[in-house]
Amino acid sequence: MKPNLIVGAGTALQHWQDAQCLAHMPQTTLTQLVPEGARAVVIAPHPDDEVLGFAGLLQQLNAARYPLLLISITDGTASHPGSTFWPVEQLAEQRAQESKEALRRLGIAREHMSWLRAGFEDSHVADREHAVAAFVERHLQPGDVVFATWREDGHSDHDAVGRAVGHAAIAAGATLYEVPIWTWHWAHDQDPRVPWHRARKLNLSPDAVARKRHAAQAFTSQLQADPSTGQGPVLSPLVLERLLQPFEVFLVPE
Ligand SMILES: [Zn+2]
Repeated sequence: MKPNLIVGAGTALQHWQDAQCLAHMPQTTLTQLVPEGARAVVIAPHPDDEVLGFAGLLQQLNAARYPLLLISITDGTASHPGSTFWPVEQLAEQRAQESKEALRRLGIAREHMSWLRAGFEDSHVADREHAVAAFVERHLQPGDVVFATWREDGHSDHDAVGRAVGHAAIAAGATLYEVPIWTWHWAHDQDPRVPWHRARKLNLSPDAVARKRHAAQAFTSQLQADPSTGQGPVLSPLVLERLLQPFEVFLVPE
């Protein structure tokens, strides 16, 4: 078992705002990431990851009218263990609705986007890694550009999705970019555990960041404390602020 890296308050926003690794990170552009004519496929382990990791990218893809496929691997039903306020069946419905509302807030045109809910069990993706890889591979085509969570992101579902999609992308002849999400919680500037040499920064306009912020606010189940268990919000204000910087980071293939 790997140690759980997602503990405590995590790395401060100010640390990242001062970080040399980010200040000197090479920039990329939408057309460098996704060649014209290619389809983009965004793969979210949980409902909300598509916004936290990719909302800026999604807006740029939508504005440039790229064909887009979003795959939600789980329905996110493990966010409130033991809760009577958020029973599992209700969470599955609620979190899908939150994603739908967030995509609406991002202005994603539904006619340019297909959306698949794969229905794997939240927090157990690693147990079904081969099935996830097979599922994703079935929906990929050669030349697709795929975006998934980084396989060392530090959350077992994110890591498993990164590995599974890695296999599927190779098998399908697709390109894969991996995205750190929880990494911002446990890593630090120049952290040797992060392959900074592979990292590229996609800059977001102030308007795109504002839309991302508004979209993130659609995940109400993740933003409120749970009165039945006393658990604080899954997405604390600090977690959210760290993910609302004016850029998104993509790890290019090795
Ligand atoms: Zn997640």
